[in-house]
Amino acid sequence: MSVFSAPDFDDHEQVVFCSDATSGLRAVIAIHNCRRGPALGGCRMWPYPTEQDAVRDALRLSRGMTYKSAMARLPLGGGKAVVIGDPRRDKNRGLLEALALAVDRLGGRYIIAEDSGTTVEDMQRMRHFTQHVAGVEARVTADGVHSGDPSPATAYGVFVGIRAAVRSRLGCDDVAGLKIALQGVGQVGLALARRLEAAGARLWITDVRREALSRAARELAATVVEPEAIFGLDVDLFAPCALGAVIDDRSLPRLKAAVIAGAANNQLAEARHDGELSRRGILYAPDYVINAGGIIDIHYQRSGYDHAAVTRHIEGIGESLTEIFHRAREQGRPTGEIADRMAEEFF
Ligand code: NAD
Repeated sequence: MSVFSAPDFDDHEQVVFCSDATSGLRAVIAIHNCRRGPALGGCRMWPYPTEQDAVRDALRLSRGMTYKSAMARLPLGGGKAVVIGDPRRDKNRGLLEALALAVDRLGGRYIIAEDSGTTVEDMQRMRHFTQHVAGVEARVTADGVHSGDPSPATAYGVFVGIRAAVRSRLGCDDVAGLKIALQGVGQVGLALARRLEAAGARLWITDVRREALSRAARELAATVVEPEAIFGLDVDLFAPCALGAVIDDRSLPRLKAAVIAGAANNQLAEARHDGELSRRGILYAPDYVINAGGIIDIHYQRSGYDHAAVTRHIEGIGESLTEIFHRAREQGRPTGEIADRMAEEFF
């Protein structure tokens, strides 16, 4: 297995393999770049089919965090942790403690937070063993008390980004009357669906977890479709809010939507799909730009929470996207590529 020359390695500053025989912990912590500040990124737990898949995911996700925080102008670098295992079956107190100690040994270069497969409660547990944990503070805002969960902030950022995208591509000032296909009604997807429906959009939803789908279907007036059917719908916008790599050679030719804008990280299976979307006239809102609401929220949790400042900062996502769309049109280049060049100006 090649490491330094692997395409996803991309000059990572540090990659740490952590294991603990007693609890069964097997994890990878990837620190891509700390030039803007400590590397902050969530911890994903997933039953990766191979160790190579886990390493690849950690590298791609941590690089994405560098670009995300730079684009959102946060004083943070990019890092990510992945734990190999099924969170429902393999997660235990010992595993969380061992992971926390591994994070602690990095002395603050990496700050852990929740992601798919981990929860705010897991982070609270880990905080007994390391101070380098984020997204655990409860906050009081105008609409109530919230846990450290960044998902509502992520959903708000995606909503703001969707408005910017449909303005740019479809000339609409809002989403009222638009047809939207939403993949994945988990923490972010459901919160986003609520916002879109309240703003007058018509929704088609799917999920591979039956209970998540039934819960969303009970609450929303959305049409439920099978997971595979979500790609081929005759809609204005496709919002991927499940896992990564959903835009690939199989799904792309089936898409009828004019806009792709959703919360999932690493939506494009390969970098070349950026150009392919652009050639087909599909406007892609680069994932790490549109889904930065959560990291913005977590940053303020660590540095003094001010709801109005967080909201203003998240609304900047719309401005960044509008600038990316404008430059992409002017230069005739794909939006993902333009976003990368813009983010690199900041680190
Ligand atoms: P989640 O695990 O709560 O929700 C994801 C949902 O997608 C689950 O209900 C899952 O069953 C479903 N899903 C998985 N594969 C699917 C498929 N093939 N078809 C349909 N549904 C499928 O996770 P989340 O916190 O809502 O995050 C969603 C995405 O957004 C992830 O890619 C995550 O990395 C990204 N993201 C989340 C945040 C955050 O604040 N939570 C921030 C930035 C990015």
